[in-house]
Amino acid sequence: MEKIKMTTPLVEMDGDEMTRILWKMIKEELLEPYIDLKTEYYDLGLEHRNETNDQVTVDSALATKKYKVAVKCATITPNAARMDEYDLKEMWKSPNGTIRAILDGTVFRAPIVVKGIEPCVKNWKKPITIARHAYGDVYKGSEMKIPGAGKVELVYTAEDGTQTSELVHEFDGPGIVQGMHNLDKSIESFARSCFSYALDTKQDLWFATKDTISKKYDHTFKDIFQEIYDAEFDAKFKEAGIEYFYTLIDDAVARVMKSQGGYIWACKNYDGDVMSDMISSAFGSLAMMTSVLVSPEGYYEYEAAHGTVQRHYYKHLKGEETSTNSVATIFAWTGALRKRGELDGNKELMEFADRLEKATIGTIEAGEMTKDLALITTIENPTVLNSEDFIKAIASRL
Ligand code: NAP
Ligand code: MG
Repeated sequence: MEKIKMTTPLVEMDGDEMTRILWKMIKEELLEPYIDLKTEYYDLGLEHRNETNDQVTVDSALATKKYKVAVKCATITPNAARMDEYDLKEMWKSPNGTIRAILDGTVFRAPIVVKGIEPCVKNWKKPITIARHAYGDVYKGSEMKIPGAGKVELVYTAEDGTQTSELVHEFDGPGIVQGMHNLDKSIESFARSCFSYALDTKQDLWFATKDTISKKYDHTFKDIFQEIYDAEFDAKFKEAGIEYFYTLIDDAVARVMKSQGGYIWACKNYDGDVMSDMISSAFGSLAMMTSVLVSPEGYYEYEAAHGTVQRHYYKHLKGEETSTNSVATIFAWTGALRKRGELDGNKELMEFADRLEKATIGTIEAGEMTKDLALITTIENPTVLNSEDFIKAIASRL
């Protein structure tokens, strides 16, 4: 069989621990036999990040701007324990944070829906994609404990020195106060990423805030979304037969529970943090969740939503058998290959991505799966496979 040719490289960001092991197996068993794989390789494994003073992470993000499509393996975000374990020069920042800051993107997370792994919410038939704004609000807030009676105000000092203030509260005893902010520019990027991704995936877009209570803060989010929609996306949405729908966050939560799924739910930073955990656990497993960072300029970085599965890696190092689920990492590759194919007009590559996804889902639906899924499946007597045999089962189906 002749291998599928690629015209433009993908940016390949390798990672850490168990997912690094899966990464290699996926390439060897599922991709390289069929595709003349062209990638620009960046090793984001912690050792190499440390050797390059994390420059490799920055370079990989810049390469993503050049080639527009990247696929990323899960990576370790260093903490105190990792400083010792890897003898790090510095506690390097989260690669995802660094990449997101350079690409200024929004993260979209969607479950991979498979028969036999049923969502807890029984009317959910299609995936619900969460788009989380990744800048500001309480994550960049400043807080104070108020020790006793006194006045708290918000004060804005313009560059020319003029001041505007707003009373927060006249305290007559101890309490607490919090100040937070966002930027029109960041909200605009978030809105454009959401509208573009909705068009890209031909799904309706929902957006919700608490604008009835927060008449300036949340209302600004609502207004910016509406202005950008009217000016840039209304006609395109109508042509694609999809809808933009704004509602109050309470109403959105109630509607999500009663819906069948099949749309994108855009959330402010905190709402997205909390709601994405609800959605992923209700759909079954973090190992069945994909994640893509979409920049307002149209750069895409695909990855799995889970981490490096450290516990399994230590078992693997001891020579013990592991049963680690590679589905989300496989779908990161298929997402990137399909997008590469779309941008390059490479139909064969797009079709290959479809076939690999179908083979992956088909393998699970035929009862062959990793341990995490076997524990929650409604399929009777599933065959539990180890990490490698699961990938081989997909390969033989493919
Ligand atoms: P994790 O790697 O997601 O794993 C947590 C637990 O979830 C695992 O121990 C395992 O449970 C289960 N699990 C997750 N993915 C699985 C899979 N593919 N197949 C089977 N089971 C799976 O999270 P973590 O242990 O908190 O973090 C480990 C490292 O990953 C950390 O260094 C963290 O910084 C990093 N991390 C990276 C990213 C990223 O790059 N995007 C995201 C999150 C975390 P059992 O042990 O019960 O089997
Ligand atoms: Mg959370």
